[in-house]
Amino acid sequence: MKKRPINSSRMPVYRDAGFELYDAETTKNTFARETENEHEPDLYIYSRYRNPTVIAAEEEIMNLEECRWALLTESGMSAIDTAVSVFQRASSTGPWLFFSEIYGGTISFIESVLRDRRGIDVHTFNPSEDRYDPLEFEAKMEALRPKLVYIEAISNPMLIVTDAEHVIRIARKYGSIVIVDNTFATPILWKPLETGADLVIHSVTKYLSGHGNITAGVVCGNDPEIMRSVIEYRKFTGHLLSPDEAYRLSTQIRTFELRFRRQCTNARELCTLLNGHPAINKIWYPGLAGHPTHAEAVKLFGDRGFGGMVTFDFGGNDDPEKKNHRDKFISAVSEKIKLIPSLGDPKTILMPVESVWGAKYPKPGMIRMSAGFEETDDILKTVREGLNSVI
Ligand code: PLP
Repeated sequence: MKKRPINSSRMPVYRDAGFELYDAETTKNTFARETENEHEPDLYIYSRYRNPTVIAAEEEIMNLEECRWALLTESGMSAIDTAVSVFQRASSTGPWLFFSEIYGGTISFIESVLRDRRGIDVHTFNPSEDRYDPLEFEAKMEALRPKLVYIEAISNPMLIVTDAEHVIRIARKYGSIVIVDNTFATPILWKPLETGADLVIHSVTKYLSGHGNITAGVVCGNDPEIMRSVIEYRKFTGHLLSPDEAYRLSTQIRTFELRFRRQCTNARELCTLLNGHPAINKIWYPGLAGHPTHAEAVKLFGDRGFGGMVTFDFGGNDDPEKKNHRDKFISAVSEKIKLIPSLGDPKTILMPVESVWGAKYPKPGMIRMSAGFEETDDILKTVREGLNSVI
C-alpha cells in the first residue's frame, strides 16, 4: 500500500477494527501504555478501545463544552450508563439521588437496570408545585448524603429549569459527584463543568448532531482519573460510537451553533404566537415570565436564550374536546410538522404528550413541540393556520 499524506482538511473515516502494531516490542509498549492518561494515543490498538475518527469528533465537542475530554458513545443512553457506572463500587455504591423530572428512558434505566438488576440504592428528588425547592433539596441532601446527584438543566416535557448552580454548590458541600444531562440546554445556554459539575452527558442524537439521522451520546469532563474510568468502561462494555457515525457527526456539528440559535429564536416566536391565540389554554416555555421556573432560567441562562422546546395545551370544555382540538391541529399541520418522537431536528416536529407519558401527564390537549431551524415566517405561518383550524 502506497502511504503518503493526503491534503485533506478532514479526518478520514478509519474503519480498521485492529491497527497495525509492527513488531512484538511496539505491541508490548502500546498495550502497556493503553490505560495512561491520554485522550489521543500515539498508536491505536483496536477500534473498540479508541479510534482516530471518533477522537476527531470528540475534539469538536470539547471545543463546544470547553472541557478537557469528551468521549463519544453509541447513544445518549449508553452515555448515561457509562457516566453513572464509573461511580458504581460493588456493595459500597450509593445512595444515589436522581431529580425526578428527567428523560423517561433514564427513569426506566434507573428502575430496570440500577435498582432491579444492580441493586443500587437510588432515591428521587421531586419538585413541589412545578419547581424544585432549594430548601427541600438541602434537607434531602442533609438526610441522605448521596454519593451521586443526577440532574437535567431543562426537564421534559414541562421544561422545568433546575437551579443548577445551587444544586451543584450544595452537592459539593456534601462531597457528592454531580452529573448533568445537558441535552436540552446545550453548551450554548449553559456549561455545567464551569459551574463545578463533574460530568456532562448529551444525547448527541438531538441538537449536537441536529439532523435526526445519527444516534449518539457523549460524556464530557475535566478530571483525568474519571476520564480513564470512562475510557475503560466504554471499552469493556463496547459503547464506543462507530467511526462512520463519528465522521458524519464531525461534519454536522460544525453548524450546531447556527442551528441552535435559530431553534431558540423560532421557539420564542412560536411562544408569542401561541400566547395570544384563543385556541390555547396554557404554554410552558422557560422564557415566559409565567413559567414556574422562569427565574431559575434567567439565573442559569442569562441572555443566551431559553432553548428550542415549547409545550402547550389546547383549551376546551372537557377532555374529549381538548383531545379533539389537539388532533385537529396535528392533522392540519401534518404536511409540514411531523409527529416524530425525538427533538432537535432541522424541521419543527411535535409529540402528543398524553400518548407518550400516559398517566404521568394525562393531558389530552397537550403537545410538545421541538422548534426546527426553518425560516421563522414559514413555521409561524404553518402553526398559525393549524391553530386557526381549531377555532
Ligand atoms: N437524555 C435526554 C434528555 C433525552 O431526551 C434522551 C432521548 O430522548 C436521552 C437522554 C437518550 O438519548 P438517546 O435516545 O440518544 O439514547
